[in-house]
Amino acid sequence: MGRVIGIDLGTTNSCVAVVEDGQPVVIPNSGGYKITPSVFAITTHGEQLVGYPAKRQTITNASNTVFAAKRLIGRRFASAEVQRSAELYPYEIVEGPNEDPRIRITDRTFSCAEVSGIILREMKRVAEEYLGESVESAVITVPAYFNDTQRQSTRDAGRIAGLDVLRIINEPAAAALAYGMGRDVDEKIAIYDLGGGTFDMSILEMSDGVVEVLATAGDTFLGGEDFDRRIVEYLLAGFQEEHGIDLRSDSTAMQRLKDAAEKAKCTLSLRERAEINLPFIASDGDGARHLTCEITRDEFESLVEDIVEQTLKSVELCVRDADLSMKDIDHVVVVGGQTRMPMVQQAVTDYFQQRPHKGVNPDEVVALGAAIQGSALVGGTEDVLLLDVTPLSLGISTYGGHFARLIDRNTTVPVNKSHIFTTTRDDQAAVKIRVLQGENETALENDLLGEFVLAGIPPAPKGEPEIEVGFDIDSSGIVSVSARDMATGMQQSITVNSKSTLSAEELELIIEENALSDVEFKR
Ligand code: ADP
Ligand code: MG
Repeated sequence: MGRVIGIDLGTTNSCVAVVEDGQPVVIPNSGGYKITPSVFAITTHGEQLVGYPAKRQTITNASNTVFAAKRLIGRRFASAEVQRSAELYPYEIVEGPNEDPRIRITDRTFSCAEVSGIILREMKRVAEEYLGESVESAVITVPAYFNDTQRQSTRDAGRIAGLDVLRIINEPAAAALAYGMGRDVDEKIAIYDLGGGTFDMSILEMSDGVVEVLATAGDTFLGGEDFDRRIVEYLLAGFQEEHGIDLRSDSTAMQRLKDAAEKAKCTLSLRERAEINLPFIASDGDGARHLTCEITRDEFESLVEDIVEQTLKSVELCVRDADLSMKDIDHVVVVGGQTRMPMVQQAVTDYFQQRPHKGVNPDEVVALGAAIQGSALVGGTEDVLLLDVTPLSLGISTYGGHFARLIDRNTTVPVNKSHIFTTTRDDQAAVKIRVLQGENETALENDLLGEFVLAGIPPAPKGEPEIEVGFDIDSSGIVSVSARDMATGMQQSITVNSKSTLSAEELELIIEENALSDVEFKR
């Protein structure tokens, strides 16, 4: 088997790494950058762009440039998150045939798995160019909080990219693998990962080369973009007050503001103040209007204080879930570009009463860990074993709409569990199994992963038939469920495929289409 690459498929940026001579290394793209923006665009000439070339033309081609597709993947179109994105993002999001969000740019419509697949294919290409050989297999990381649908869609994206996805692993677990490499220690570490679009908090235990995730918490809809947006809102309000012009409906102006806000934010990580200068941002009867202003670090910090506070709530929940107290945590590792902000570093330091570990690069550590795991899976790297946990409880809906929990969140995977259920009516011939993931006692408040029917139950008084429902979560966190009538031995099973993923036929079609346009790497 060829070499296995590790890919950190980020909301904002992606990174690819490989193990060479026993050491994980990040692979730079052809521009020499170690991270590649997770951005995809189609130009007015119909040319497809990925990475920096796509990001650079965002302002002039905003409605045909896709970013942050990871915030949409595996969600339902009607979900609050997708609706919020549709309002905020300059590209068009439409409802797909599986109630999933699809992205419409130029005259083409893409599923989220396709967009992620395009980014992954670019990362594959970057690796092939560097290694001088073709790459077939990868380990891909996802936020620990991703549910089954989001994981499956990510796996589909890998297949679309022409990759055999050996495993999907959690980003913080990957970070821990990279942090723990070559350290012969027994430690409990906290990983605080604040990226562009997601926040993940995890507590892991490392001993004798085994990394075990003790607990995870987080928010799949909170990240650096929210910090940018606060600056944008601040600029919009200031401009409206001064000139009486609302820039919200001008998508080019909004894109320029967003761009400037992110730059100012990064400047404020290093300096006390940042200048924002956007000439010709609007015009009215009196001619062109320019936006110039200065923002201080203090002002910025007061704009985002509550976002940082919000992350600490997940931290608290995670520590509690791990059954630990603060003094049990040996080290804190910060991951993700947004952790470069001094206020975030300070909040983490104050909370844990210790400074975060400095030895790892927050942009690279996840991809390095994925490469280590990939190498271990094909026998290349010794002494690493990753035990991961399922981030959400799993169960079925029972009579009266209650959620019967079969597997608790934070249970180590792979895992399988079964339980006997029965009928609620006399001579009931069929039962419907609704598979749900979440923490709410009311079934329908949780995510519906899928449903199926077990029919042909022989007539019997209610409460008598024994129906065994078995749950299986594999090491990538992917769920399958079976139901068996103990009397007849009749069985129904599914790999849970919720509506918001691509159907099997659709996936095959996309893979085929991509194969047609693909060229093979030549040495
Ligand atoms: P993701 O994992 O979501 O792809 P990254 O870990 O690459 O994201 O983080 C990207 C986020 O980090 C962006 O919101 C970016 O603006 C922010 N970021 C990058 N550098 C800095 C910095 N120096 N100061 C503050 N934020 C930063
Ligand atoms: Mg990340």
